[in-house]
Amino acid sequence: MTDSEPESFRYEGEVPPGEKRHVRYEIGETYLGDPVEMPVTILNGEAGGPTVGLVAGIHGDELNGVKVLQEVAAEYGPGDLHGTLVCLHVVNVPGYLAQQRDIPIYDQDLNRSFPGRERANTAERMAHEVYRRFVSQCDLVVDFHTSTRNRTTMYHVRADTLNPDVERLAAAFGANVILAGAGDDGSLRGTATRDGIPTITVEMGKAHRFQRPLVEKALEGVESVLAAYDALPDGEVAQPRWQEVLGGNQEKRWLRADTGGLVQMEWGPTPLVHEGETICTISDHFSTEEHVVEAPFTGILVGILENPVAAPGHPLCHLARIDADTHAEIEREIETGEFDGYRLLGLRWMGDGEEAE
Ligand SMILES: [Zn+2]
Repeated sequence: MTDSEPESFRYEGEVPPGEKRHVRYEIGETYLGDPVEMPVTILNGEAGGPTVGLVAGIHGDELNGVKVLQEVAAEYGPGDLHGTLVCLHVVNVPGYLAQQRDIPIYDQDLNRSFPGRERANTAERMAHEVYRRFVSQCDLVVDFHTSTRNRTTMYHVRADTLNPDVERLAAAFGANVILAGAGDDGSLRGTATRDGIPTITVEMGKAHRFQRPLVEKALEGVESVLAAYDALPDGEVAQPRWQEVLGGNQEKRWLRADTGGLVQMEWGPTPLVHEGETICTISDHFSTEEHVVEAPFTGILVGILENPVAAPGHPLCHLARIDADTHAEIEREIETGEFDGYRLLGLRWMGDGEEAE
């Protein structure tokens, strides 16, 4: 791809090679009939190469990726790039304005609406515009998300690693943990991947925040992807000390509450838990009953409930099995202070100094 001739990127306008444009692309209308416009940066390099899509804000309150794209769009110029970078800064504009996950009023999940349709509900119409104009022109896509509100998630990638092209992209991003699996029907990742556009999602931290250490990691990840696909000759490919692909239902599981009550997290101070260890307790208001939730296997906590109340069926934590070697490597890194996964990567230690705002 590196030797290909540079080409214009066409949407409804045109961005020729050697130019960077910030545009607002209409994806709908308000009740007042005013345009709903998505901020887009198109950076067309002076030299030819792949078209790389970066997507944020498909869920309107998931902000870490929005910050990543703001910085990526400012950092690189046409002279740096072989190929084209398409940054969709905020896709779900109505949700972003309301600071909520779904499209307001009808609570439609934009990330279950791809590839969209022209004559359908609001979400599908928006998805259709975004998909046909931008995503379908990309050679690969990275879609940034966070945990949904009231939860937080470890920094990790989700990817259909059975697809070798997707596996390559997931590895190139350089996160330690990759959760393997096909994307949901209607998700951008699932849809684009099935259409032959390798797509990964990056899950990072919590909603409603800019979490600087996670943003820094993701900026390194973007640089690594661009470098690995020869789109950024001066870029650095990430060399994670360990990278684990976790897949299958035996290997990762949401543990759910079986009783209603007050949740007390007991795990820590690291996200490693051994089989049989107490992860949390759920007690009633009179402290007469207490249910202990134990780790069903040895693993790493990749997602955690933060809202400390639960009803039966509520997710408490997302546990992924890891092998003994990885476990030992993480423990070693924790001891030497090298493992930033537990202080910085979005688990409850992220709350240090942050909850007091
Ligand atoms: Zn999301």
